[in-house]
Amino acid sequence: MKAKKSKRYVTTYERNPKYRKQAIAIHGNSCAACGFNFGSFYGEYAEGFIHVHHIVPVSEFEAPKHIDPESDLIPLCANCHSVVHRKKDKTLSILEIRNLIADNST
Ligand SMILES: [Zn+2]
Ligand SMILES: [Zn+2]
Repeated sequence: MKAKKSKRYVTTYERNPKYRKQAIAIHGNSCAACGFNFGSFYGEYAEGFIHVHHIVPVSEFEAPKHIDPESDLIPLCANCHSVVHRKKDKTLSILEIRNLIADNST
């Protein structure tokens, strides 16, 4: 029960346009894990497109709280964002996904 509720909060924060705007203003719009930039790759059509990920682990979430876009939110490309959320019971940290990428790129 609790886990479901927490997940919903995370999703809400990640989709909040206000937080999204603040996060991008601080962190830029390149993926924090792999460096992918939609604008550079796809051109003007995709310029500025990026997912915003909330980095506080779901398990630490108990109630809605103030979000600090500088420390709590990070831009991730759609691929990396899907991977960090791949397992329902665990969200990868930025370091963990960077390590995955480093370990598997040749
Ligand atoms: Zn990425
Ligand atoms: Zn996320």
